[in-house]
Amino acid sequence: MSIGGREERLAQLPPDMIEFTLLKTTGALAPRLGRISLAGRKTILTPAFIGNTSRGIIPHVSQDNYRKSVTLNGVYIPLEDFVEKHPQQTPPIFKYDVPEPLRKFIALPEDTLLVLGARRNPPIPSPVANTNTEVGLSTSVGFKSMSSEYYAAAVRKLQPDIVIGLADIPFGQESVGTKRKDKMSDRTELWLRDIIARKSTLDKGEKGWSIFAPILPIERDLQSWYLEHLLEDMVDKISGLAIYDTYLLDDLPDQLHHLPRLSFHAPASPHELLRQVSLGIDLFTIPFLADATDAGIVLDFTFPPPPKEASSSTRRILGIDMWHEDHATSVTALSDGCTCYACTKHHRAYLQHLLAAKEMLGWVLIQLHNHAIMAAFFDGVRASLEARTFDADVAAFEAYYEPALPEKTGQGPRIRGYQFKSEEHAKKEKKNPKAYKRFDADKIIELKAAHGQQPNKKPEMRDVIDDEALLGLVGMEPGVDVDPTTQLDGLKIGDDTKA
Ligand SMILES: [Zn+2]
Repeated sequence: MSIGGREERLAQLPPDMIEFTLLKTTGALAPRLGRISLAGRKTILTPAFIGNTSRGIIPHVSQDNYRKSVTLNGVYIPLEDFVEKHPQQTPPIFKYDVPEPLRKFIALPEDTLLVLGARRNPPIPSPVANTNTEVGLSTSVGFKSMSSEYYAAAVRKLQPDIVIGLADIPFGQESVGTKRKDKMSDRTELWLRDIIARKSTLDKGEKGWSIFAPILPIERDLQSWYLEHLLEDMVDKISGLAIYDTYLLDDLPDQLHHLPRLSFHAPASPHELLRQVSLGIDLFTIPFLADATDAGIVLDFTFPPPPKEASSSTRRILGIDMWHEDHATSVTALSDGCTCYACTKHHRAYLQHLLAAKEMLGWVLIQLHNHAIMAAFFDGVRASLEARTFDADVAAFEAYYEPALPEKTGQGPRIRGYQFKSEEHAKKEKKNPKAYKRFDADKIIELKAAHGQQPNKKPEMRDVIDDEALLGLVGMEPGVDVDPTTQLDGLKIGDDTKA
């Protein structure tokens, strides 16, 4: 069909509903090629990935760099990143009175598909347990709960393109009892009905949204009531599925196979991505992308893999650790053959220097590159499906590359509260190492001598030494034994009593 013809057809669709076209598939649990279209947004050819955001952005990528250097056609946005003032105050985002306030608030380009869910991916387990009406959230200032009603109202106000139905999943619990699983399915059904009901109250001309129904990470017989009701009276109201355990996909009723499948089953490696593609997942958010970036790991793989050299028996690594000292003098691109901004403008030695200097640009460049590698990977996956060589290409990929991403060795950027799991919050030690440390006694004497100061002699100009320099010299760290006589005499700093 000509492009013009497709655009005409799109124009006849209700402007706020996505359309999913299955282009090629060989069965219920087989890899498939598809197309997700929505008027006004870039078409997404599937299998594909959408950006996994943190507080409205792809981590490290500012809005201008996103527009210039990232080729994502969609993003996933968790509501919990925006409602930290709830319920005491109205979160700022709800006071923003423009059409599509969420998109405007985060400066997302008009043509990028916006998918809204409740929790981050992967979610931090919340000690606030879900109830019949509420789910536990982890916001930037602590754990909260949010009602299904509030969620539905938020969706109506924020006007995303796609909303993921609220799911009752006790994240972080190792074993979930049968009774609890029954509850999961009952609550998820009720909450999905809340979203559908809210949509039916939209005024004429008000922007609607497409609904993706959660499919719970439990066996089919334990969510059979929910699935039956989904088929009975909700299937024509939903436009897609959010899959929380792709290995239970064979439990999915046939009548739901025409719907696009978005995976919230976080893959640990490209191999796992391929496994999910082979089961028929269409859309992904890929948390390991940002994890690799934070670790200073430059992803380095292609799909299908390059032809294997007969002589080599070892498998290639999936990513290059930019902290490794080998790169200190290397002026080659991050990854051979990559045409991203980072690879065409900079070399490895510069990247390593940026990381060592904790310069933010280092992580920006790696993130741009890692997203480019992943986009090329999915281009390759679709071409391979088109050429019907997918199974052979996957086997070649597994033979060519190591099964897991390299371990993190270097230090990442400063860790934020919401990147920490709840049990880690309870630990006493600091999340980030101190920028300033106390020198030992000998070093202090040496430094004082270098500055022309002698112990027991009042330093002149003491008052003009700025606090930060003093902190660097003397240290503020509590609990470290330093002979007070070696410290600068007569020095009093506000909270020095701790030491
Ligand atoms: Zn690159």
